[in-house]
Amino acid sequence: MPKVLSINGTLLFPPARKTIVAAAGLIRRGGLVAFPTETVYGLGADATAGRAVARIFEAKGRPPGKPLIVHVADPGQVRQVTASLPGEALELMHRFWPGPLSLVLPRSAELPPEVSAGLSTVAVRMPAHPVALGLIRAAGVPLAAPSANRSGRLSPTEARHVLEELAGRIEAVLDGGPCTVGVESTVLDLSGARPLILRSGAITRTQLEKALGTEIGCAVKGAGGALSVAPGLHCHRSFLRTPLILVTGPRKRRRALLGALTAGYRRRGFRVVVLPAPPGGRLLAGALFASLRRLDRGALDLILAEGFSPRGVGETVLHRLRQAAVRIIKA
Ligand code: AMP
Ligand code: MG
Repeated sequence: MPKVLSINGTLLFPPARKTIVAAAGLIRRGGLVAFPTETVYGLGADATAGRAVARIFEAKGRPPGKPLIVHVADPGQVRQVTASLPGEALELMHRFWPGPLSLVLPRSAELPPEVSAGLSTVAVRMPAHPVALGLIRAAGVPLAAPSANRSGRLSPTEARHVLEELAGRIEAVLDGGPCTVGVESTVLDLSGARPLILRSGAITRTQLEKALGTEIGCAVKGAGGALSVAPGLHCHRSFLRTPLILVTGPRKRRRALLGALTAGYRRRGFRVVVLPAPPGGRLLAGALFASLRRLDRGALDLILAEGFSPRGVGETVLHRLRQAAVRIIKA
């Protein structure tokens, strides 16, 4: 067995065959294990054990009405947790799995109600990460896993982020290094009459529309009808401690405004820092969120984030910044 550290009683496993098997043993005994996926770190429990799933809510301080995503190791395992599989689901699984797309489907009656917070549906996805897949296979059960952060905080993209918030509250963390995608999976509801995006994420709406050959709706935060179908969306709070102001508009003008705002706040004694736009307006979501996390830990009064013209997953990153912002100013 490779060297294993213990931080406040939480084991930090390097990724290896033996440690994955040991972590799977903890899961089978009702334990909580955080593991890497391509999007963010997940906090996993045996999805077939109601008591283990309930512990996820305790460890995170997660509101009881917010359902979890079930992670499977192969498309066949989906049948264990769902009641039916529409053709669209098979098509999207074929096209995007393993990958950052969670599908909301009618749930199997055998699944403990805790997993989907009492709803008649369940969200399910197959992650594209060898450590995640190895853990689910070794456990022999699907894993219910939300992001491995305390409720309301930024999703972790490194093992140390998980330990900062959950050491002493969970059995183990499997360290798989930084997550490559760095932003959460897209949640697509296929349980209704028409497909609906409940949470924007790493797979874009355009990609999904192309794959299905039809228009797809988006549940927007605050839109009346969306509240009942997108649990958790309406109770979104900022994941940051430090207030963040987002400055949008054409590049030249927003840069000028950022300069003026920074100087103005500094004159008034504010400790303020600028978070520049990601190069090219896309990807590097993980790097951007890691900088944000670093800034949020520092003794700052204000973060000024620079907006950008989003491309690809940049659209989701910008959406998250908008959600976190206390103010959005257009230059
Ligand atoms: P997290 O894993 O913490 O990033 O959160 C999971 C997201 O998936 C939340 O936004 C949930 O509202 C959403 N979700 C999970 N299961 C369902 C479901 N059965 N119906 C609708 N949304 C779901
Ligand atoms: Mg989360």
